[in-house]
Amino acid sequence: MSTLPSPLRPLLGPEDLWPRTLSTTRHALSTGALQPIATESRTLEEQGISFQVRVLGRAHLKDDRAKREKPRAAPFNPFENPDPDLVVGELPPSHVCLLNKFNVVEHHLLIVTRAFEEQESPLTAADFEALALCMTGLDGLAFYNSGETAGASQRHKHLQLIPPLGPDGLRAPMEKLLSPPPAREHITTLPVLDFAHAVTGLGQWEASPGRDAARMLEAYHSLLAELGMGQALPPYNLLATRDWMMLVPRPRAEAHGINVNAMGFAGSLLVKTQEQLQQLQELGSLELLRQVSQASIRIRCR
Ligand code: AMP
Repeated sequence: MSTLPSPLRPLLGPEDLWPRTLSTTRHALSTGALQPIATESRTLEEQGISFQVRVLGRAHLKDDRAKREKPRAAPFNPFENPDPDLVVGELPPSHVCLLNKFNVVEHHLLIVTRAFEEQESPLTAADFEALALCMTGLDGLAFYNSGETAGASQRHKHLQLIPPLGPDGLRAPMEKLLSPPPAREHITTLPVLDFAHAVTGLGQWEASPGRDAARMLEAYHSLLAELGMGQALPPYNLLATRDWMMLVPRPRAEAHGINVNAMGFAGSLLVKTQEQLQQLQELGSLELLRQVSQASIRIRCR
């Protein structure tokens, strides 16, 4: 099933993305379509990375329990016919940009395929073209959770883009380790990350969705190849900014009850309770990431 392009939805150019994000957010808050999740934020410093840890409020936990206790309905696909109040605009020919309904960070964008595609299916030129257009409008952090084990809660294909998380203008805390980013086509690892991953540079951002998407697609394929990942892709997280791209294979969804998705590898973690925060402090954020990842493999840095 696919959602038809709607003449009522504005077509997005890069310059429209941010103003439309702001106006859609205002509107969606006023109608109740947008339901931000309140958290308390802490910083845990480790190896020069300022990990951001968000702790869910008690009210949210109660809501969560209430939702879980409802009888199971037929599987619902929220991206098949997205709530019009959440739609930021069309990304022709094949994607739609909408606000994440239950956002933890402000202005959290989802870039979903109009026609259903499996979240586990490989990313395509069209996916990167839609993403590159949005990244030209918002110089933030893009990410992708491929598969439930990698943190995806929906099967319908969706990429994600959020404004810079910081600190100090960084697009993600982990970016501290990527200044300067690797050169284009150079694949490397970050020495403090003691688990399988690979990072590459994207070269100069051109603000041309076609050309930027082509470089991102090429980088994605080279990271997959470097990590020995073939056509039937195992779960993985992908992170990207205008300058770099990182891929992390994911054999495990959680450790110590703490679920980790791509944002974890960006240096931003979410815990449910103060007890989990305490546990994370004792364990260390990097150790948590290690425990949900695959053992390091030697890659040919080039
Ligand atoms: P992920 O959990 O990484 O697969 O991302 C999917 C996101 O979709 C989640 O963060 C949810 O908050 C969000 N979401 C769930 N239902 C809706 C909806 N009806 N409209 C927009 N976003 C949604």
